[in-house]
Amino acid sequence: MTDGARVATRPGVRPPREAATHCPYCALQCGMVLRENGERVEVAPRDFPTNRGGLCQKGWTAADLLDHPDRLTTPLLRDRPGGDLRPASWDEALDRVGAGLRAVQERHGRDAVAVFGGGGLTNEKAYALGKFARVALRTRHIDYNGRWCMSSAAAAGLRAFGVDRGLPFPLADLGRADTLLLVGANPAETMPPLMRHLADQRERGGRLIVVDPRLTATARQADLHLQPLPGTDLAVANALLHIALTEGWLDRAYVADRTTGFDEVRRTVAGCWPAEAERLSGVPVADLEATARALSTVDRAIILTARGAEQHAKGVDTVTAFINLALALGLPGRPGSGYGCLTGQGNGQGGREHGQKADQLPGYRRIDDPAAREHVAAVWGVDPAALPGPGVPAYQLLDSLGTAHGPRALLVFGSNPVVSAPRAARVESRLRDLDLLVVADLLRSETAELADVVLPVAQWAEEDGTMTNLEGRVLRRRALREPPPGVRTDLAVLAGLAARLQGRVPSYREMHNKGPLLTPTEAFPTDPREVFEELRRASAGGPADYAGVSWERIDADTGVFWPCPDEGGPDTPRLFADRFPTPDGRARFRSVTHRPAAEPVCADYPLHFTTGRVLAQYQSGAQTRRVAALRRAAPGGFVELHPDLAGRLGVADGEEVRVVSRRGELRAPARLSPAIRPDTVFAPFHWPGAARANSVTNDAVDPVSGMPEFKICAVRVEKA
Ligand code: SF4
Repeated sequence: MTDGARVATRPGVRPPREAATHCPYCALQCGMVLRENGERVEVAPRDFPTNRGGLCQKGWTAADLLDHPDRLTTPLLRDRPGGDLRPASWDEALDRVGAGLRAVQERHGRDAVAVFGGGGLTNEKAYALGKFARVALRTRHIDYNGRWCMSSAAAAGLRAFGVDRGLPFPLADLGRADTLLLVGANPAETMPPLMRHLADQRERGGRLIVVDPRLTATARQADLHLQPLPGTDLAVANALLHIALTEGWLDRAYVADRTTGFDEVRRTVAGCWPAEAERLSGVPVADLEATARALSTVDRAIILTARGAEQHAKGVDTVTAFINLALALGLPGRPGSGYGCLTGQGNGQGGREHGQKADQLPGYRRIDDPAAREHVAAVWGVDPAALPGPGVPAYQLLDSLGTAHGPRALLVFGSNPVVSAPRAARVESRLRDLDLLVVADLLRSETAELADVVLPVAQWAEEDGTMTNLEGRVLRRRALREPPPGVRTDLAVLAGLAARLQGRVPSYREMHNKGPLLTPTEAFPTDPREVFEELRRASAGGPADYAGVSWERIDADTGVFWPCPDEGGPDTPRLFADRFPTPDGRARFRSVTHRPAAEPVCADYPLHFTTGRVLAQYQSGAQTRRVAALRRAAPGGFVELHPDLAGRLGVADGEEVRVVSRRGELRAPARLSPAIRPDTVFAPFHWPGAARANSVTNDAVDPVSGMPEFKICAVRVEKA
């Protein structure tokens, strides 16, 4: 079945309903069919180009949350600080939020209210949230948790290629590559169905090389595993380019015809000796040479980065180094070749295209670009001069909450920063300092537990909309059933709040200067289809152009790749075939050099700490920790240690340890494994409380992308 939700017609029997949709979790957006069977909703895999009929355990169990006893079905209010949350009506809750937002803005100004979104929101919700911030609240402060996902790759891609699309080619291209280099990616655990494409590649005789500080499930399948110290990927990339340059393996015609800036990069990497990269990273020169040869001496090669390379205070430069390598070898723009980033969150790609980012307007337009402001303001029917300017990146925003110059009120949609933010205890403290914290969620997440108002919202199987997967392919999310009584959609929440704000604060009414004034319902429709039609107009002509994408067109095929400016014209599965979307049509090299981690190890904190995910949990775990099968598979946090290190510390397998950094500590059982370097410890970041990995992580950020340094800081490990 490839069409949308449908109702069978057997007379006298309650018809089973089915919906062909996609998994609610990661960016692979595996195709699945939901089927109501009596009281139960069954999940079955659906053949789709990304998952080819596969699902991981998270997808199989996704429906367990639909009728979960923890599901919120009524708004909750806190009457006084320190008091308990109590059930309330929607009118009471929305009135409280509306009055609270007005009071904060009247006393402290428009920017005293901030909005924090999520990479799991549909395109329609991400778009409406950005519009709500800029038009109903008129605040410059909006950002989202996708900032912590792939913002470094996004910034590097924009800098080099003039566009940010995670994969500039269909996922199936992975199977065509003669050599595939995965840097800081572990899809065997994070998106297992993707491994089918890697199996294709292997069956065709291709080579897989994995760069990861841990011998992960993915690295175990590789022909070659490079195991660098966390934070040294940039040195590895420059050494690979040095070797290719020295050996004469560069694609000189491609560099001359399709790029600019190589001379400076050549001068830089000429001094990046492989022996120095070995000293910094621990990767033997022989392995660097083998990798450079495997990439350079084949017809087709693909380089992919993910969070392991990107979540650093030098994440943008690290990705740039791998893009430099790809460009020098002439890879981007050819089928089965190129550079790409494996986006993490379900709508990490679409979420960053339509206005949730502090510096963006829909269509991946810049909010500081006068032409972009004029275009979007015309769609919104407002004065471009009244649109706010750029805000600040996610961590900077959260770290300013409740301070003298920061926002005093925060609306959170689809995010759980109490668990997912770096230096989480500090962020938790900032949230407690707010005058008003409002959380829209389907469950009482750790962040909702701190809120003054909690608004229960619909889940994925209860809503229509679109998502944009890791390939830049726009997909349809289809509702199986209505939300339960007492639950509203995020779009309905925004419409309800807009109605309470209009005309009461400097708002939509004031900034509206063209044509008849729209009512809040007209300006913030609750029908996702209507929102998408507006999104198409707002994105038209922008880098992420959705003007030619219609729901019918998506339904008629397996999605639509952006840019797609014309409904009658083609979409764009592959970018860069003839030119790059830069002013001169050429990709841009940029010289980058290795620099140390923001926090070096020392006598007090002698070990490197890094974080990541496990197969059975997803992101902050607010949803997957409540699924019984996933909880059985991955019941709690742990600290992975090399047996040699454990021996030195006198720690036995399963014994509880403390991992202590300058910012805090986590406690969890030790898990001894020779798969990790003896100088590095690892913890997954899905759990709150004592096992919260982000109590330890460093909040140093990349100066370009705002990406925090989740992947390396200095710690010591002690028996608890
Ligand atoms: S979590 Fe990701 S890999 Fe697993 S089923 Fe969902 S979309 Fe597929």
